[in-house]
Amino acid sequence: MYSLSRRSFLASLAMFAVATTSPTWAADKLKVVTTFTILGDMVRNVGGEHIALTTLVGPDGDAHVYEPTPADARALAQAGLVIVNGLGFEGWIDRLVKASGYKGRVAVASDGIAPLKAQDDHGHSHSKTHAEKGKDHHHGELDPHAWQDLANGRLYVANIARALAAADPAHADDYRGRAEAYDRELVALDRDIRRRLDAIPADRRRIVTSHDAFRYFGRAYGVRFRSPVGLSTESEPSAKQIAALIRQLKKEKTRVLFVENITDPRLVQQLAREAGAVIGGTLFSDSLSGPTGPAPTYLDMFRHNVSEIAKAFTS
Ligand SMILES: [Zn+2]
Repeated sequence: MYSLSRRSFLASLAMFAVATTSPTWAADKLKVVTTFTILGDMVRNVGGEHIALTTLVGPDGDAHVYEPTPADARALAQAGLVIVNGLGFEGWIDRLVKASGYKGRVAVASDGIAPLKAQDDHGHSHSKTHAEKGKDHHHGELDPHAWQDLANGRLYVANIARALAAADPAHADDYRGRAEAYDRELVALDRDIRRRLDAIPADRRRIVTSHDAFRYFGRAYGVRFRSPVGLSTESEPSAKQIAALIRQLKKEKTRVLFVENITDPRLVQQLAREAGAVIGGTLFSDSLSGPTGPAPTYLDMFRHNVSEIAKAFTS
């Protein structure tokens, strides 16, 4: 044990010497491209100072309907590693990778999680693109929002650490160490969230949001979420679907609806008005806020969402 840590200490000293004397230090960093801010924050935590990170969809952006730019293709062309969410979240990524000429590895952060399948429990289709193709059923479509369960987040972090170590073996120990430290923060926050939400009676934990981004959160932490549009922000509900949802909200005595940072709040505001409920606040679903907002990191996003939810049910 002693000799091992002594060896890595000497190794990092040697690295430090090289780093501070080499004029190409910044250029030597592993160039990593991620697709959206939540994943980008995880990668930053594991990669630290060894990586130069580009995140394609910025703060408050909607990756479901994102349209890549020429600058995105340039970033990919120069990348040493690309990390995506997977589960069909970034429908545009395969075409972008192809167009950019990037030939390296595309690591999938959600590898190994137990995916939720799309389920049509609101009586409407989940995605306009599928509906347009004339498909009425969505068997096999997966819910991509796996990061909304911190247990899945831990798997993301382990996958990210492995991908970084494989792409940049010289810093493998460092990536592993940073991932372990970050993992401990995820575990502690997970425990905290359970304690806070357990204080709310289970049958009152019913929430409506703009789109179905919180099913993993709901499964992990015992909250029932509903939404008018389904898994992707691409679709729009019909008047009939909205009327059915309002009837159901009244019947279930749902008191609180939340808007999301990535979607237009008007539909949820209308639902709240007509169902006699209130808007509990803004939840961060598929994207972080900017650095001065309430959810600039993955962990801050959970803290903010849980505190908004807890506040709504205890006020
Ligand atoms: Zn989403």
